[in-house]
Amino acid sequence: MKYDLVLKGGMVVDPLNHIEEVLDVGIIDGKIEKIGEIGDNQGKKVLYVNDNLILPGLVDSHVHVIKDGTGKAGYRMLVRAGVTTAFDFRGPIDAFEEEIIPYGQGLNVAVLNCIFNGREMSQYDVPREEIYKEVRDSLEKGAIGIKIMGGHAPLTPKTTKNVIEITNEEGGYIAFHAGTSKHGSNIEGMEEAVHLANGLPLHIAHINSYCRGMIEHPLGEAKRALTLLKNSPNIVCESYLAPFNGTNGELNEEGLPKSHVTRNCLKKLGYPVGKEGIKKALLNHCAAVYTKVGEENQLIWGEEGYNLWEDKGSKVNMSFLVNSPVVAAACAAEKDDKGHFVVNALSTDGGAIPRNFTLKYGLSLVAFGALTLKEFAWKSSYAPAQLIGLKDKGHFSKGADADIVVVDLHKKEAKMTIINGKVCMMDGELTHEPGKILTTEKGESYLKENHVPYEVIDLERSVYRNGKDYLYRRGE
Ligand SMILES: [Zn+2]
Repeated sequence: MKYDLVLKGGMVVDPLNHIEEVLDVGIIDGKIEKIGEIGDNQGKKVLYVNDNLILPGLVDSHVHVIKDGTGKAGYRMLVRAGVTTAFDFRGPIDAFEEEIIPYGQGLNVAVLNCIFNGREMSQYDVPREEIYKEVRDSLEKGAIGIKIMGGHAPLTPKTTKNVIEITNEEGGYIAFHAGTSKHGSNIEGMEEAVHLANGLPLHIAHINSYCRGMIEHPLGEAKRALTLLKNSPNIVCESYLAPFNGTNGELNEEGLPKSHVTRNCLKKLGYPVGKEGIKKALLNHCAAVYTKVGEENQLIWGEEGYNLWEDKGSKVNMSFLVNSPVVAAACAAEKDDKGHFVVNALSTDGGAIPRNFTLKYGLSLVAFGALTLKEFAWKSSYAPAQLIGLKDKGHFSKGADADIVVVDLHKKEAKMTIINGKVCMMDGELTHEPGKILTTEKGESYLKENHVPYEVIDLERSVYRNGKDYLYRRGE
């Protein structure tokens, strides 16, 4: 038998099949054909990956591929970080339809269309018919569901509740950055989000964002969040590991940061809220500016970052070191009485935001002993894949999709990203394959008509639809 591609001599980790062993991987037609010993002469192409880890490709369940003013950087940054499938938490789906062939880099993307983007809805309730229309349009164009921006652009609790209800009724996936006109993006907002779901399936975004110490001590908030999740089988979620957030550095006419998140960051770090504070935070390396350098976005620290902020008249993207690493570790590692992870997946909230740190910090948690290697692969690939019912991703069973990340364990970086059996990135170089949209059956005819590459997923077989325990029922 001739394999299309053979990876020889890597440490293969597969949490579903309980594998953690030096083995070869044989791929035919974009699928896993064999994990075992394979002769050197059996592959049309043979790559020697000794001393590297072979993990199922990363499935990042919360990213922003498209970010205003940063071009097409997100696709590149994700694939170079070892991500093979990503859930985009904003859309718009129309932009992906145009970009997925020329810029997709082989990536599989499931898109959640942001609802009522840029429209302030905090003062009144949106009629149900209008919500139905937005949800149906999004699904028919190929999105798998809806994202409620909440904390950034609050809706009333009633409208939020209706969006959750209607998206589920229409067969879509609903994700929520907690926060309404009543509660902010904090632990109280998260508690409100669980209440508004009223037992229906709901994905609450980045759990650790609600545990920054806005209401009480961050660890107290983390305990509230994790306890709530243990008692809410209908809620799925992820958490990230990045120590810094993503926000905006722009000042208004009064010299105050336009973004309330930026104001809170300065307060939290003990700096004056205004130009002086931003200057100090940048010069003290408590904040950075992020901007496009070459074809990707990078953080610019210190004086250089401050100069950039000045040169651009404050109109730059910024990141502040405000996330608690202790809370991040707790959210990543916490299990319930049955030994099941409380937070379903490791995500980044990255993409075009330069914080695609799943390998860097996730493998640090492994080195630290907070996760085993198999648990890391479970949380960064298998479990997030099952959130949307991707039964052929996140493991190396025969016939599974050949989505693989080859990891340099010493650098904790992706050395090679293979998607659908194709090498999409090797040693940092991209091969410019087209990407693919993951859609529900409702989006199929539109994508087909418009010649957009797609694959239909089945949310009926997802952890999202069937509740958190479904993951472990399938895994056993
Ligand atoms: Zn986000």
